[in-house]
Amino acid sequence: MSTVYFVPARVRRWDYSASLAAGLERLIEKLDFSQAIGKDEVVAVKTHFGSHGAHRIVRPVFLRKIVEGVKAVGGKPFVCDTVRINGWDYLEVANQNGINPQSVGCPVILADGLFGFDSIEVKAGPVLGSVRVATAIHDAPAMIVVSHCKGHIESGYGGAIKNLAMGGVAGRDRGGDWRQARGHLHAAAGESSVIRDPELCTLCLQCLHVCPTEAIFEDDTGLRVDDEKCWRCGRCERVCPEGAIKLQKRGQNEFQMALAEGAQAVLSTFQPGKVLFFNFVLEVQPECDCMPGADTPVVQDQGILASRDIVAIEQAALDLINNALPLPGSLAEERGVKAGQRVLAAALGVDGQLHIDAAARIGLGSREYELVEL
Ligand code: SF4
Ligand code: SF4
Repeated sequence: MSTVYFVPARVRRWDYSASLAAGLERLIEKLDFSQAIGKDEVVAVKTHFGSHGAHRIVRPVFLRKIVEGVKAVGGKPFVCDTVRINGWDYLEVANQNGINPQSVGCPVILADGLFGFDSIEVKAGPVLGSVRVATAIHDAPAMIVVSHCKGHIESGYGGAIKNLAMGGVAGRDRGGDWRQARGHLHAAAGESSVIRDPELCTLCLQCLHVCPTEAIFEDDTGLRVDDEKCWRCGRCERVCPEGAIKLQKRGQNEFQMALAEGAQAVLSTFQPGKVLFFNFVLEVQPECDCMPGADTPVVQDQGILASRDIVAIEQAALDLINNALPLPGSLAEERGVKAGQRVLAAALGVDGQLHIDAAARIGLGSREYELVEL
């Protein structure tokens, strides 16, 4: 049984000590960073920078408190994510969303470099074989994983496991072999990446606009996909309003297993006890923070969790979300989710429990947890 510390989002007294910010300070104190971080050790604070239009990320005020917690025990933190869109533009996204050295109090970097190529191959499980872990994460002696918990169209839920599996792996591979980079987690091996059905396509070009690699282009024959450029991110499929473009994907169980293996590969680059986890169960929107917009939350804000066990904290976060009431005006209501149903699974039709179970099966942690409210 692992311990998961929790501060609820409800503020019941108008006093700083009752605020979420003060609650996070209590979580940091309880987790005792000094056990994981040595003096002068460089510490990766891994979070998600969001997207143009997707603002529901972990707010800078919270990142700064975690950074201050690292500094207080003598660590040297840097806040990081990995390349999704063009790296220069992605740093500008971080800045727009309020994440910069001035706001968080330490360097803000792309862990796989400005072009998403800086990575080191790491052995993974049987589904993935190997992945390329972002160099700055690979080489950091300690890490704090700061995750915004929300839904995800493919995995059903995105928290710490997904933050590490997708976000700890490099965006691109210099040799052009997408099987080594992030697309490897999404896609099944195959010669072609995405298939477009011209019968369904209305040429709205939404897919072209969201493609991070300019792999989708128009020529005399119509809309086409360049397989060499495509890194199998699946954004085109997710935004297509007609269901006209499909990424050749892994099966659902295999994909969820790939997430667990990806997280395991990233964690394998750290000594035991050197990684701590914070899950922010706030603004639980139904989609990933990399999408070009953020929908309204499907459940009310729950609070912040902290633990040394990635599986336990993920289980606690998903339990909080799935046991909450579906919010009026959200996708959950639109999809007819009723009180008592597992909210995310019912709204999205995919159960994120699958990758938490997979992570437990490969020994990343325990699904049994004690929730300790601070
Ligand atoms: S999956 Fe789609 S959006 Fe992603 S790189 Fe390939 S063509 Fe572009
Ligand atoms: S988003 Fe869909 S409908 Fe629009 S151009 Fe792309 S494939 Fe066609």
